[in-house]
Amino acid sequence: MPRVSRRARARPRRTAAPDPRVADVGELGLLARITEASGPPGPDVVVGIGDDTAAVRVPADRLSLVTTDALVEDVHFRRRTSTPEDVGWKALAINASDIAAMGGRPRHALVSLMLPPDLPVVWVDGLYAGLRAMAVAAGGIGLIGGNLAQAECVVVDVTMLGDVAPGCLVRRDGARVGDLVVVTGTLGRAAAGLVLLDNTMIRNMVEPTLAARAVAAQRRPQPRLGAGRVLGETRAVRAMIDLSDGLALDLGRICEASGVGVRVDAARLPVDPCVLPTAAAARLDALDLAVGGGEDYELLFALGPGDAGAVLGRLERETDTSGVVIGRFVPREEGCTIVRDGASRALGEGGWTHFRRRGARPGAEGGR
Ligand SMILES: [Mg+2]
Repeated sequence: MPRVSRRARARPRRTAAPDPRVADVGELGLLARITEASGPPGPDVVVGIGDDTAAVRVPADRLSLVTTDALVEDVHFRRRTSTPEDVGWKALAINASDIAAMGGRPRHALVSLMLPPDLPVVWVDGLYAGLRAMAVAAGGIGLIGGNLAQAECVVVDVTMLGDVAPGCLVRRDGARVGDLVVVTGTLGRAAAGLVLLDNTMIRNMVEPTLAARAVAAQRRPQPRLGAGRVLGETRAVRAMIDLSDGLALDLGRICEASGVGVRVDAARLPVDPCVLPTAAAARLDALDLAVGGGEDYELLFALGPGDAGAVLGRLERETDTSGVVIGRFVPREEGCTIVRDGASRALGEGGWTHFRRRGARPGAEGGR
C-alpha cells in the first residue's frame, strides 16, 4: 500500500476541483489555456506561441521599437484591490504608452508570467481577458509568446514591440530653450485613485462619480496611443515622454536629456476634477498629487512656439485630445522650477514622491 502523508490524508487531492490551482493544471495545461486566451496571431506573425521564439514581419522602411516593464504583486498592485483583468490591462497599457511616447505604434507583446503554485487558474484566465481587452483596444496588439515560471508572488513582465517611421521618431533629448512645455489630458487622476484605493474612509468622503473616475485611472490607464502617433507624424515635436512616474520626475528626465531647464506655471496645470476633493478629504496638497503623482500615462512634450497652434489643433481634430501649455524650457543654469502664486520652488521638491507609482525607481525604466 502506498504511503500517504498525514497532510494528504487530511486533504485528499482534488481530481475535478471546482477551483483548480496553477499546480493542479501544470505547465502544459496552463500553456494550452494561455494559447487559447491569446487570440489569433495577426497577419504579420509568421510564428506565434508554441515554438522556441516568435517570428514577425517588420516593414523594411520602419524602425523597430522594443520596451519592457513589469507589474509585481504587492509592489505595483494588490490582488485585494485589483482584479486580474485590471492587472492584465495595465501590464499591456504601460508598455504601449512607452511605444506611443516615441511616436510609434505598438504591434506585438511577449508576456513572461511568474506565478505562485496555489494561484487559482481563474486568476490567470482573468489576467488574459484583461491583456486581450487592452490588446484589442490598442488596435490589435498580438500576444505572440512569453514564458512561465514559478514564484512566491505574481509577476507580469511584458516585452513589447512596435514600429515607427524613422522621421516620426520622437526622443527625450530634443527640447530647446524657448520651447513650450505641453501636456495632454489632466494630471493627478491616477494618484488620487491610489489614495482612494488605499483608504475606504477617504473614498467615502469623495463624490462617487469622481471617486470612480480616479479609481478607474489607477486600475485601467488609457495610454495616449493615437495622440503619440499623431504627434510623431507632425514631425514638429522636439521631445516627448509619457507620464509614468509623475510630472516632476518625467519633465526632469526631458530636461536632463536635452540639457535645458524649465519653468512650469502651476496655475496652468490641468489638474483633474477628482484631485481637489480627494486632496481635501485626505488632507493633502492637490498640487502635490498633480505634480508628483505618477501613472497618469499622459504625454508630455516640447514644441517650438511657432508650431503650437497647428500641432495642438491637429491633435484635437484627429484624436480628440487636448494639449495644454504649462510652461517653457529655459537655459539649464536657471534650473527646473515651478511657479505658484508668484513664488518659485524647485521641481521635485515637496511631498510628491509618496504618490509616485509604487515601486518605481528613477532611471529604472526600460528603453533608457
Ligand atoms: Mg516612459
